[in-house]
Amino acid sequence: MRLCRFGAGALGVVDGPMVRDVSAALDVLPAYRYPLPSYDAVIANLDVVRARIGELPNTAPVPLASVKLLSPVANPGKIVCAPVNYQKHLDEVRGQAQLHQGNEGHMAPIHTAGLFLKATSSLVGAGEGIALRKLDRRNDHEVELAVIIGEMGSNVPRDQALSHVAGYAIGLDITIRGPEERSLRKSPDSYAVLGPWLVTPDEIPNPGHLDLRIAVNGEERQNSNTKYLILGVAELIEYASSFYTLYPGDVLITGTPEGVSPIQPGDVISAYVEHIGTMEVKVRAA
Ligand code: MN
Repeated sequence: MRLCRFGAGALGVVDGPMVRDVSAALDVLPAYRYPLPSYDAVIANLDVVRARIGELPNTAPVPLASVKLLSPVANPGKIVCAPVNYQKHLDEVRGQAQLHQGNEGHMAPIHTAGLFLKATSSLVGAGEGIALRKLDRRNDHEVELAVIIGEMGSNVPRDQALSHVAGYAIGLDITIRGPEERSLRKSPDSYAVLGPWLVTPDEIPNPGHLDLRIAVNGEERQNSNTKYLILGVAELIEYASSFYTLYPGDVLITGTPEGVSPIQPGDVISAYVEHIGTMEVKVRAA
C-alpha cells in the first residue's frame, strides 16, 4: 500500500497516478488528550487504520498531479540521519575542502561519526517545496532512502530490525555547507523532504538493493544503489536503537551516495527510489 498525506491534512491511498481520500479511516484513532504522545498516532495505529481503509466505501479518486503532497508522516518524534554511509560519498567529502571545512568529524566513517538528528520542524512533503536560507553559502541536495519506524524498539538486534519498519519513502537531506554542527546546518524549515508517500514493506522486496537517483533541472547528479550502504537498514536500526528508543513514526534517513551538488532558488529537483517512485520538489528562497 502507498499511503500519502495531502491538501490540508487528508490521508490518501495512492493507486498509479490517482489518489483516493481515506481520511474517514482516521476515526479509528484513539481520542488523544494532552499531553499528546511523542510518536506519530497514524503510524502507531497503522494496522487498524489500514483495516478501516479496507472497509470504507469507494470514493472517486483524484489525480495526484492535482493535490499538494505533505510529509507522509505528520508527527515524527525524531529524524535520525546517517552522515557518511556510502564509501564514495565519504571519498568525495574528504576530497573537497568546501564539503569537509577541515572538520575531522566530517571526514570520519559512520562508525566514528555516529548519527545525528534533524529538527522535526524541518520536515515537509514534496508539494511544499524547499525554501533555501543562507543564500550566500552553498546549499546541497542529498537523496536518501528513508525508513519509517513502525514498532517501538530499544536495543533491536539486526535480525529483528526489519520487523520494526512501517514503510519506506524518499528522503531529501538538504544541507547548508559550513563549519557548524550538522544538526544546525541541516535543520532549517523545509530542509527535510519526505515523500512522495509511504510504501509498506510488502512492496519493497529488498531495502538493501534499491536504485536511487536525483536530477536537478533534468540533469542527473546522483545515481547509486542501496547495496553500497556501509550500514544497511537493519544495521542502522540496530545501531540507532542501541543509543535511544525508536518510536512509531520516527524517520531514519540512511545516508547519501556520491554526487552531492549545489541547488538554488528556481531549481526543480526530481528524486527517484526504486519501488517507491519519483517526487518532484521545487526550490525557492525563504
Ligand atoms: Mn544526508
